[in-house]
Amino acid sequence: MSAIDLLSLFRRELELCKVQPGEVMAVLSGPNTRPDYIEAFVAAGQQLGAEVFHLHLPQPVASGRQTPTTAQGALWGVTPLTGHRSGIEILKKAGLLVDLVGLLHSPEQLEIQKAGTRVLMVVEPPDILARMLARPDSRARVEAAGRKIAAASELRITSPAGTELTYKLGQYSRSPILQYGYTDQPGRWDHFPGAFAYTWPNEGQSEGTIVLRPGDIIFPFKEFVRSEVRITVQKGFITDIAGGFDAEHLSHFMAAWNDPDAYAMAHIGWGLDEMALWNGISLINKESAIGQDGRAFYGNVLWSTGPNTDVGGTRMTPAHLDLVLKGASLYLDGEPMVLDGDIIPDDQKVKRSRA
Ligand code: FE
Repeated sequence: MSAIDLLSLFRRELELCKVQPGEVMAVLSGPNTRPDYIEAFVAAGQQLGAEVFHLHLPQPVASGRQTPTTAQGALWGVTPLTGHRSGIEILKKAGLLVDLVGLLHSPEQLEIQKAGTRVLMVVEPPDILARMLARPDSRARVEAAGRKIAAASELRITSPAGTELTYKLGQYSRSPILQYGYTDQPGRWDHFPGAFAYTWPNEGQSEGTIVLRPGDIIFPFKEFVRSEVRITVQKGFITDIAGGFDAEHLSHFMAAWNDPDAYAMAHIGWGLDEMALWNGISLINKESAIGQDGRAFYGNVLWSTGPNTDVGGTRMTPAHLDLVLKGASLYLDGEPMVLDGDIIPDDQKVKRSRA
């Protein structure tokens, strides 16, 4: 993508975020940030009249906790901003923080949000950003999904492969997490791009079996499942992973964290992004993309494991997997949101084609 195209794309994104003349806008970069993203966001903010600054953080010196990987999209909550007090204080002065590092699941991001700063994470490559830029009805559809989650007390997922699992809701679900690809409200986080909605289950109240089948996706591997994996969940934790190679692959990775919290059930929701591709992971460079296609595609069921600090819980673990079921079903209090991979409620269906 040319520099001019990138600038105009980021300007459209910042307009969606309602960046105002005179507003303080921060651009945060780290060791792995694309230089063209820094330049284009700084320039786009200036074009909109914002008071822009750019903060670059170095790779932190290795400290303490060992993790099995630091690969892109595989380690969450530990960032160049971890424990960086002066950086945190500076970023809290911004109305909008453009996060080119990936602060998601970190206490530092939550502290910055609490100061009223809206936070926009941007780490995907340009072609994905351009294709999945929010459409005029993205937000309304995701907010409609959010209202359903907020009102529900039980979420159930099923699949033709044999998934049958129930999450009890209420502890965290009254304020679901909504992603539609931009943020224009104080203190609100979003990730450009992607449209989907999710929440966290009550602690210790997820029970059942999830069966992954070929075509489902495991992040951070950014790989399709190619053989059936049978996952048993009791009292909110995975207690067994059975199957062939894919089960062994998954079990080995989870065990490598040496952290019981890695097995906890975390966010659960469904994809609402009609521009996202189920097979997008086949088209990406694993080191330069995290795979929003797979996480957000229209009618997926996305479940996860690991941390819950995003919603006020105490499980702070860098071990976080997103697992995507294709062709599955998701019900809230018995009402289908997704049925065999199709979005059911009228107000969550795509109303129009791309602008
Ligand atoms: Fe996740």
